[in-house]
Amino acid sequence: MAVAGGVYRVETAAGAVDATLRGKLKQGRRSAVVVVGDRVGMRRAPGGRCLIDSVHARATTLVRRTRGGREFKVVAANLDQLFVVASMAQPPPSTTIVDRMLVMGEAGGMKILLVLTKVDLPGGRPRADALARDYRQAGYRSVCTSVVTGEGMDEFARLAASGSSALAGLSGVGKSSLLNRLDPSLQLRTAEVGRKSLRGRHTTVASRLVALPSGGRLADTPGFSDVTGVDVAATDLAGCFPDFRPYLPHCRFRDCLHLKEPGCAVLQAVGDGQIRETRHRSYRTILEAL
Ligand code: GDP
Ligand code: ZN
Repeated sequence: MAVAGGVYRVETAAGAVDATLRGKLKQGRRSAVVVVGDRVGMRRAPGGRCLIDSVHARATTLVRRTRGGREFKVVAANLDQLFVVASMAQPPPSTTIVDRMLVMGEAGGMKILLVLTKVDLPGGRPRADALARDYRQAGYRSVCTSVVTGEGMDEFARLAASGSSALAGLSGVGKSSLLNRLDPSLQLRTAEVGRKSLRGRHTTVASRLVALPSGGRLADTPGFSDVTGVDVAATDLAGCFPDFRPYLPHCRFRDCLHLKEPGCAVLQAVGDGQIRETRHRSYRTILEAL
């Protein structure tokens, strides 16, 4: 399923067809009714038009904050994995921002991989090694990359070749550079979408799943720089930290927020060095912002 200006391109066993939304479906919060990656039910209207008349339950969701607002919007559905991209220099990595993106991916139900980019820059290598080690302890796999030396590009391409994915990361961390390595024609296509969207003021910028030459599909969804929005209930936040999970059942209080409660197994694990302090600090920061 891809979206562009109110027309939805739906893949079917018999090929791709263009469809519009049935009136009843438009009554919800319009932009979030059907998003890229959705599985939909369709029927043919008189005159041969295809109408989307149902949206299946979503296995995973990728959300982002609405512009300037405190609201959240689903931008893609049913993606298998999320690449959380952080650069080792220019800009230097922020574990707080990485942790926010990880929580977003966990809350959305996607498998997560860390991509540590620009390892060729001064200081990049030791920083990447340290982060990869810390995040392995937290339960995440990392791939270190450089589009300058080519390091990690094969591994990244292999990871992207299975299922459907999206990239999340601040602007400037190297997302486009990675994508252009996977599919050199992507840059061109992105430019085309941009041009089209300028034509009519009300045209929605297209988003779709791009089939990669090496297999796998990638959500080409604009505006993924603001990916630090976390849309979870306070009591569910700790469950979005895989390194906290083994301890959660052992807190004295069922509704423990793991801040300073007596008998908190998470705080105990932080004290024992089983959970890294930086992760708990991120947890506290995210919780306070909820
Ligand atoms: P995006 O905003 O996340 O899409 O980032 P870009 O792909 O546009 O990259 C931002 C800048 O970082 C560009 O000037 C790239 O040339 C540079 N860059 C991207 N990847 C690397 C890398 O692996 N090594 C180095 N040295 N620079 C990179
Ligand atoms: Zn606790």
